[in-house]
Amino acid sequence: MRRGVTPAAADPPAPPRDDPAGLRAELRDLAAAGLARELRPLDGPAGATVSLGGREVLCLCSNNYLGLASHPEVLAAAAAALRAEGAGAASARLIAGNLAGHRSLEARLAAFHGTDASLLYGSGYHANVGVLSALARDGDVIYSDALNHASLVDGCRLSRARVRVVPHADAGALRDALRREQQPFRRRLVVTESLFSVDGDVAPLANLAASCTEAGALLVVDEAHAVGTTGPAGRGLCAAAGVQPDVLVGTFSKALGSFGGYVAARAEVVALLRSVSRSFIFSTALPPPVVAASRAALEVAASPHGDALRARLRENSALLAAGLQRLGAGSRPEWHIQPFVVGAPARAMALCEALLTHGVFVQGIRPPTVPAGTSRLRFSLSASHTAEHLHTALAALEISLTQVRSP
Ligand code: PMP
Repeated sequence: MRRGVTPAAADPPAPPRDDPAGLRAELRDLAAAGLARELRPLDGPAGATVSLGGREVLCLCSNNYLGLASHPEVLAAAAAALRAEGAGAASARLIAGNLAGHRSLEARLAAFHGTDASLLYGSGYHANVGVLSALARDGDVIYSDALNHASLVDGCRLSRARVRVVPHADAGALRDALRREQQPFRRRLVVTESLFSVDGDVAPLANLAASCTEAGALLVVDEAHAVGTTGPAGRGLCAAAGVQPDVLVGTFSKALGSFGGYVAARAEVVALLRSVSRSFIFSTALPPPVVAASRAALEVAASPHGDALRARLRENSALLAAGLQRLGAGSRPEWHIQPFVVGAPARAMALCEALLTHGVFVQGIRPPTVPAGTSRLRFSLSASHTAEHLHTALAALEISLTQVRSP
């Protein structure tokens, strides 16, 4: 090339006239990568079996871990609140008042988790995004587990803090990262799930907590899949490990069969969130029937009946883990989330369809929900499943694996 002469920049190709913003092209690319998503029509309540597209199938992919979504006490509480207080709260709580149901549920949650206070959010997603973006900002650092849920990842991004992704469930790596840190950050946060949502394994909570104490970092633990299902009286894995995180995030949308997220924490943390957490401040309060359902579900989960449901869930988890291991899943911890990793997204979806032909519904999970190359069937169990349900599902998987061969 002669000096002083710059080549003319090539003009970008003109967008096709019939798709000027490239929307259809993007959809085509997603479909070609096996990543296009469709919603499946579902009728009727969540349960061990569901009506999918008008057909009764065995459901092994909902998070209704204790079967409380249709528990009679939960339904009765929601119906009574609907009649007494109406369908919606009609305002954010800081604007038009703080309903009795919300106040008393927060007091109950604080007692349940042994914290000073708690704060309800519109969902677990709202809670995670709201906590991280309130507690961390530019000039802070967040150490985030490599397999954290999207809502935690989004909270990290929204905070504008520096984010250090630490190897999954690796307490030594976190300790080293905290000790190595050179930069003078104002605040340091460590964030992890307790029972991981897609791998179904558990964070080393006691060791993470010890490293946080040593480094003066705040520990945020998302117990979305552990509250109700694990720990004494269903209080979760932090309680089981004797760890009191600085912020515990929970959700009513899984084992508790209802909807809405929350934080349980020291009074000063909750006071700060109440004043600066944008997804709390700028979003309408949970509807009274939902709050009543959540309260009733929490009471069932904390009761001896809850203990019986958890025992049943453990038995189911052990049975399924052994069966999946026989079919090649490798050795798995016996929790209520059991991944069957197959690799390519198309294979995960083909297996999902094959299972459906045998009347078994287990959703295929693909990137970006899981890392590339680890697409899977994600089995999730309920106390409502019987041993027979699980034997049926395993037999269907065995046949489906012969029908959908490896690429
Ligand atoms: N955290 C984790 C680990 C989750 O798996 C989920 C839901 N999949 C959430 C938070 C969000 O909870 P919610 O559904 O209540 O928004």
